[in-house]
Amino acid sequence: MSFNNLQLIAPLLTALSDTSYTAPTPVQEQSIPIILKERDVLVCAQTGTGKTASFALPLLQLLHIQETTRQNNCRALILVPTRELALQVADSFTIYGKYLSLKHLAIFGGVPQYSQVKALQQHVDVLIATPGRLLDLLEQRCLSLSDIQYLVLDEADRMLDMGFVNDVRKILSRVPRQRQTILFSATMPPGIQQLADTLLNQPVKIAI
Ligand code: AMP
Repeated sequence: MSFNNLQLIAPLLTALSDTSYTAPTPVQEQSIPIILKERDVLVCAQTGTGKTASFALPLLQLLHIQETTRQNNCRALILVPTRELALQVADSFTIYGKYLSLKHLAIFGGVPQYSQVKALQQHVDVLIATPGRLLDLLEQRCLSLSDIQYLVLDEADRMLDMGFVNDVRKILSRVPRQRQTILFSATMPPGIQQLADTLLNQPVKIAI
């Protein structure tokens, strides 16, 4: 299998050819075609399997091919448990989206809000956020999630372990119901199954 078999558009294939990757990993091979079909997906995969590219590549493609006006609020939300992961996911969007003109922004706690609030005043297509800071900014009306069409919960089991479940539920109540949802988790304890049952619509299940 090569990246050329995954129905990815040329700007993404060119960005991939600038990396050292020679072939998609199993999670990429299985997730990319399903996400491109706009199906909900539940993926059980550890970190280190290439899971970030498995959602970043198809989301960049879906956002790129969609007609949009620049006034749109953010269209994709990636929820992550930690600042480190937010920065790592943002780096991946920079690498894979190098030949596209989509904008992404990472927001997380532990740093002053000011520069994040300012950055949210510009157009953002993909918001990568930790739940606590996102909720704070939502409550201060610094952004709206009313145009979100794509939602990813990355490392969902860690998010629950860190006690973010109520924050996550509050955030989700502000995201439109009509959307595509992708949930990644390294483990599938009952809490994750429950969350998946309430969030995902007839998901395709992938276990790596
Ligand atoms: P992740 O599981 O998303 O944290 O990715 C783990 C590491 O694998 C990152 O350093 C990626 O740059 C790298 N990676 C992602 N996809 C591939 C691939 N297809 N081939 C080789 N390395 C990859």
